[in-house]
Amino acid sequence: MRPVDETHHPDRRSWVESANREDSGFPVQNLPFCRFERPGLPGRSGIAIGTGIGDSILDLAACAREGFFSGELSSSLLQPTLAGVMALDVPARIALRRRISDLLRESGPDSDRLAAMRDRVLVTREDVRLLLPVEVGDYTDFYASVFHATNVGSMFRPDNPLLPNYKYVPIGYHGRASSLVPDGTPVRRPQGQTAPATEGDPPVRQRSQQLDYELEVGFYVGPGNRLGETISIERAEDHLFGMSLVNDWSARDIQRWEYQPLGPFLAKSFATTVSPWVVTMEALAPFRCQAYSRPQGDPEPLPYLLSDTDRRQGGIDLRLAVFLSSRQMREQGKEPVELSRGTFRDMYWTPAQMLTHHASNGCNLRTGDLIASGTVSNQDRHSRGCLLELTWDGGPGNPLPGNRRTPIVLPTDERRSFLEDGDEVFITGWCEAPGRRRIGLGECRGIILPADA
Ligand code: CA
Repeated sequence: MRPVDETHHPDRRSWVESANREDSGFPVQNLPFCRFERPGLPGRSGIAIGTGIGDSILDLAACAREGFFSGELSSSLLQPTLAGVMALDVPARIALRRRISDLLRESGPDSDRLAAMRDRVLVTREDVRLLLPVEVGDYTDFYASVFHATNVGSMFRPDNPLLPNYKYVPIGYHGRASSLVPDGTPVRRPQGQTAPATEGDPPVRQRSQQLDYELEVGFYVGPGNRLGETISIERAEDHLFGMSLVNDWSARDIQRWEYQPLGPFLAKSFATTVSPWVVTMEALAPFRCQAYSRPQGDPEPLPYLLSDTDRRQGGIDLRLAVFLSSRQMREQGKEPVELSRGTFRDMYWTPAQMLTHHASNGCNLRTGDLIASGTVSNQDRHSRGCLLELTWDGGPGNPLPGNRRTPIVLPTDERRSFLEDGDEVFITGWCEAPGRRRIGLGECRGIILPADA
């Protein structure tokens, strides 16, 4: 686990004034990484990595060129990808955070010299395009909320909602890295095979009628492991770099027809949106909490997924919320409506358990791989992380496309069981704790475009 140190001190302020505002998710205690492109500087020359601070971004490559960093830190910051920083070992990542904090805080060593060249090293968010932080080699999606798994199971398999392996195996599938897109990228409604309306008829290929979002959190792998080697639960956190918000768009009608026996395929791989900011495990240190306490009667995980430290501090007290705005709402100037609000602390499996399990067969994880948690749902209705669960009126025996769904009523009196063209889904996340500065994970937005004709 990473230390809580002076970089988290709530009194620490930045010379970048916008970072000191109470409502800023990016105070000097956060320091999330991003990768951005400056328009006007085409190709790789215009791409750099940075740190979010208030409304601005500190151009880390520019700082490295000015000599503010030395050795391996400097060379990792000069790369046009976050991969070099992600590959650093934990002591180097802690040293990097301390150095950036010192540069951006009031009265830090060299902070006056940096502030004097703010025009060269600070860019505003409006002036750049935020990119994926790294070229993701592999993307894996878990299924770590027992509430989500139970809800979806009761709809897809009313007689057998939670399969017997769930409490032993962190369930996951290999996703598609090529269709990961950053915040703000429009998402085209997919077409695909859906189940025949009458049993015995052939399936039809059509535009998905049941397009959904999934509220998730993703973890980037820091240093990887060699093929054939495993990662012990005690060392798993060393391989976690940081977190981003993820929207795993899902076409439920395609999913229901295709998912047996091998799991999700084209129902998921048409797009997955990630927030462009990576909040590091170092920044999250004050918000670590006990792992989810399994209800009495649930089995213990097998020993390779169990450690005292992970049980005591493996959870993350992260809050999440999802908002929706329809085209009509935007035309009428109405605010987005909050669909749900959840917490990451009640996930059945911790990030360390997911990572250890992933590598437990000797599968090599590589720097920059993205591991998503699965839909974050909790017990109460307003904390369900997708429309499939939110608009379902509950109770086993209720088949998915049935007529007992409970649509969401928007402020325009429009109704939603699933997403319509022009809908924009917006996910946000933050951590807060008494005596700590609140830190944000930024935003993860996507607007639905009509299917290709
Ligand atoms: Ca998912």
